[in-house]
Amino acid sequence: MAHIIDGKAFAANLRVDIAKSVALLKNKHGVKPGLAVVLVGEDPASQVYVRNKGKQTIEAGMESFEFKLPDTATQEELLKIVDQLNNDPKVNGILVQLPLPAQINETAVINAINPDKDVDGFHLINVGRLNTGAPGLVPCTPLGCRMLLEDYLGDLTGANAVIVGRSNIVGKPMAALLLAKSCTVTITHSRTKDLQEVCKQADILVAAVGRPEMITGDWIKLGATVIDVGINRIAGENGKTKLVGDVEFSSASEVAGAITPVPGGVGPMTIACLLRNTVEATCLQNGISAGEVL
Ligand code: NDP
Repeated sequence: MAHIIDGKAFAANLRVDIAKSVALLKNKHGVKPGLAVVLVGEDPASQVYVRNKGKQTIEAGMESFEFKLPDTATQEELLKIVDQLNNDPKVNGILVQLPLPAQINETAVINAINPDKDVDGFHLINVGRLNTGAPGLVPCTPLGCRMLLEDYLGDLTGANAVIVGRSNIVGKPMAALLLAKSCTVTITHSRTKDLQEVCKQADILVAAVGRPEMITGDWIKLGATVIDVGINRIAGENGKTKLVGDVEFSSASEVAGAITPVPGGVGPMTIACLLRNTVEATCLQNGISAGEVL
């Protein structure tokens, strides 16, 4: 039976450390980090995420700013808010909750954020920094995955890592982060041939597909470390819904050496890493070494 990687507990400890970093920033440097989250529209999942982000930001001792726009908002209206936040010294991190309504060009909005305040790490400048090994803000979910992997495995050098999914939010930055740790990285996607066989070669298997329980135990090498990024809501018992990952936990945990559960694995790491990125951005903007604080 696989070791269960407890992302919930790891994220709770990380948030305690971040609160200490925030206290140090305030006491030693007189700076209080601030995170602004912008939500457009009424998407229920996005509303929950934004509420949790605000709550955890305040719990960490930071300032939380929330902006809500109706789903009829125009791109110009949103860009105006982004511009105000770029120029507001109390705001160190800006996050525009995705997805955005169809009339708004997501890429244009993301690239309008000051890259040094881009705590999601999605701005082209930060993508370039990540892929060239320059310091910069890194996407939260893959950053959280790498933290869990390093905590459990230690040095990742030479590990054969297979990532299922090539999105800009998870798959591609995950690959860059593992490459930077000297893994041998394979990125797979919906057109990959013999996907099961490719996955079976993995010492580290990261599933970021968005297909409930697609990866089963017979796709996994004995003893592999499995990181399940997927969050899928499916029909459960008694007419209720339940959350499952992209990996079938029951069969995968018979074969894997270690595995993240859903819920309680990668999910809680995402917001914790967002708070961490906000502290890092605050340091960057105030000429403070992040290494001194984090
Ligand atoms: P996307 O839909 O943007 O990307 C999915 C990727 O999976 C694509 O690259 C796609 O390939 C690939 N794919 C789809 N079907 C298959 C298949 N049958 N075989 C192989 N590859 C396939 O999703 P995201 O990256 O945004 O998210 C992935 C999952 O992670 C979702 O469940 C999402 O909810 C979850 N998630 C969780 C977060 C967290 O905080 N834990 C944060 C972000 C996402 P192709 O490019 O060829 O279409």
